[in-house]
Amino acid sequence: MKTPVLFIGHGSPLNAIENNEFSRAWAQVGKSLPHPKAILCVSAHWETAGTHVTAMEHPRTIHDFYGFPKPLYQVKYPAPGSPDLARLVQKTVRSAQVWLDEEWGLDHGAWAVLCRMFPDADIPVVQLSLDRTKDPAFHYELGKELKALRNEGVLIVGSGNMVHNLGVMAWQDMAFDWALEFHEKLRQLILAGDHDAIIRYRELGEAARLSIPTNEHYLPMLYVLALQDKDDQITIFTDKVTLGSISMRSLRIG
Ligand code: ZN
Repeated sequence: MKTPVLFIGHGSPLNAIENNEFSRAWAQVGKSLPHPKAILCVSAHWETAGTHVTAMEHPRTIHDFYGFPKPLYQVKYPAPGSPDLARLVQKTVRSAQVWLDEEWGLDHGAWAVLCRMFPDADIPVVQLSLDRTKDPAFHYELGKELKALRNEGVLIVGSGNMVHNLGVMAWQDMAFDWALEFHEKLRQLILAGDHDAIIRYRELGEAARLSIPTNEHYLPMLYVLALQDKDDQITIFTDKVTLGSISMRSLRIG
């Protein structure tokens, strides 16, 4: 039995403590999944030179954002780590050296989503970093190599945003035309399984350029799409552009 794979459009860290359409949808999907043995999260918020995997027994909750209300800084997500899963990831990936990390923990790309999906924090969580020196195709190929983990009861979660332009973000529930245009284009490519075009997003024109000024929030999606088998259903369970330039689309594969 293959464990499903998720991409979560995480958006504002406030989704960790607000009761809204996104946090409710995350809670719902958490309940609908077969209980995973462990979680491997690829978060937009951990960029490194080289590929690293957290290997500590007790990852700390990292509050890696500024200027938010105090209660958000008090949220802790005390899920255990899994040195075993970290070593399994290290062994499974052949195309790159994966380094065991004892320093990081859980950044808000991971915990702000997982605290809604699995509020009991009783499932071990490991994070995989994004090698910032590599191109999109590298990340997609690395994602493919993680496929075997789906047969081990490991839930792989990519956490980012398909459209993410903080520079022009507006604190209101609206969407720029170019953000909607690229968001729709991407929906069609995802449903058509055209991963090649998704990897080569830089060739998709002006709307893509504005939607992905930097790609750290886009890359976690490539890991998730790479894990899609031919017989996997793909379900979009939140699908909205908000704050002008942030896509909150989330996917379930399998
Ligand atoms: Zn983010």
